Amino acid sequence: MRAAKRDYYEALGVERSADGAALKAAYRKLAVKYHPDHNQDNPDAEEAFKEITEAYAVLSDADRRRRYDQLGHAAFAGEDGSGPDFSSFGDILEGLFDGVFGNRATDGLPKDLRYNLEIGFEEAALGADKRIEYERREVCSQCNGSRADPGASHAECNACSGRGEVRFQRGFFANTRPCSQCSGTGVRAEARCTRCKGRGSEARKRVLTVKLPAGVEDGAVRSVSDAGEQTLDGSGALHVHVAVRPHPLFTREGADVLCEVPVSFPQAALGAQIDVPTLEGRVSMRLPPGTQSGKVFRLRGKGLPVFGGYGKGDQFVTVVVEVPQQLNERQRALLAKLADELDSGQHLPAKHGFLDKLKNLFD
Ligand SMILES: [Zn+2]
Ligand SMILES: [Zn+2]
Repeated sequence: MRAAKRDYYEALGVERSADGAALKAAYRKLAVKYHPDHNQDNPDAEEAFKEITEAYAVLSDADRRRRYDQLGHAAFAGEDGSGPDFSSFGDILEGLFDGVFGNRATDGLPKDLRYNLEIGFEEAALGADKRIEYERREVCSQCNGSRADPGASHAECNACSGRGEVRFQRGFFANTRPCSQCSGTGVRAEARCTRCKGRGSEARKRVLTVKLPAGVEDGAVRSVSDAGEQTLDGSGALHVHVAVRPHPLFTREGADVLCEVPVSFPQAALGAQIDVPTLEGRVSMRLPPGTQSGKVFRLRGKGLPVFGGYGKGDQFVTVVVEVPQQLNERQRALLAKLADELDSGQHLPAKHGFLDKLKNLFD
């Protein structure tokens, strides 16, 4: 005998104002958690399952819910005070469980598939038609999904009448399990389709071409309807997840392309014509005298097509001045001489401005 019976709303964890959809969602979640099949070693689970199922059976029925709201548990107290009569809830539970746990009918629902597609930076930039090859399950081409040999006269399993599952009582509600006589196929062993061995489906290779628009971004998903798993109820979709390989020179920010170009100290000081890589090939760019390291130049329209929009992005070129390394005796002497000559506010304004500020701060 249980102690004081819990409020039905409380048992399901919903507000008293919860609508049908909220009730169902709450119940399904708890039902999966407490279902006896998932709780072989937990004797309390069945009690919990019974409680939420009773709560749902009452609250999901408008008439019963009204009575419960008015009278509470007393509304259903029978002669023995044991609660509502479950025999009349059979249909509710059956209908509900088909959706919660899956049986032959729902197993037939077509599944979506995922394909991971890696492409190069340039392919993403310019767009590409990519041929992909994958395997999916399709309705068996010999039995058309019936699982039975087309020539068999009496294919149906006698034990389950061809349903592939049998009902049994577990605790207080009816449950189903795969028919052991026919291994859940619904078809007698001798009459099974030889091609699919009674599965009704077979794995087939598929090839298709996925069109990737210019400017497609890393992480983009292209979905191809009807290219997923096929069942008698139709086909799911194939979701192609695009990953863009990194480029040795370029990175990308939306439609803009970024790159760094190292230049020598004399080039930066004297000015130079330098080669810059773009997606369309090499271009020549003028570096003005006195260009500082980190200076960014914009090459208009040299970026990527705007994905899902119009026009093109720009390319941003960051100039990085490389300091000479591993100098020999003569080079060191030359540089030292130059250093003396250039060390003034006129030639190195940033350095001298900084020194002035430092002085003001501490002197
Ligand atoms: Zn077959
Ligand atoms: Zn059977």
